[in-house]
Amino acid sequence: MRYLRGVELTPITLPLLLRLRFSFSMSLLNHSCDPNSTIVFEGKQLQLHAVRQIQVDEELTVSYIDVMATSQERQRQLEKQYCFVCDCKRCEMADKDSNLLAGEEHAWKEVEESIPKVEEFQSAGKWEEIADLCQDILEKYRDVLPDTNLHLLKMLDAAMDACVHLARWEDALGYGVRTLQPYQ
Ligand SMILES: [Zn+2]
Repeated sequence: MRYLRGVELTPITLPLLLRLRFSFSMSLLNHSCDPNSTIVFEGKQLQLHAVRQIQVDEELTVSYIDVMATSQERQRQLEKQYCFVCDCKRCEMADKDSNLLAGEEHAWKEVEESIPKVEEFQSAGKWEEIADLCQDILEKYRDVLPDTNLHLLKMLDAAMDACVHLARWEDALGYGVRTLQPYQ
């Protein structure tokens, strides 16, 4: 029987193989919730891209998970998927959590509840439906939730992605511009 970090390796499927390949690549670099690099696959080539200025003696780090999540959610994912507790500065300070959950709770919970529907449309490549749904939600909550709210940001990302697929470049740009400041 073979195990990987305590997980039994049962009949191997292609998705698992791909995940293992990705995990192996990432295991060369430590995780940070505020990484200075990101891994990009170009065909069969793995590339490491800097996402900000890196000092000469600074350790290269990547994020193993989606960094657009609260400290509690990131810790939960890292513990579940990678079996460690992150002690990076961002987790220690929980500094961006208030921005990520800014706005009225009942409003962002309603937006959060729409995300599975958006993901379902994404899996089916229903770009028109995504663009319409996101537009409705973004208009409804425009004056209620700030763009830094992580659930609203997911809607902006999904709307931009859908508009790119539909070649609606101006709409895509409009959504993209709104995400620039929150992602900083
Ligand atoms: Zn962290």
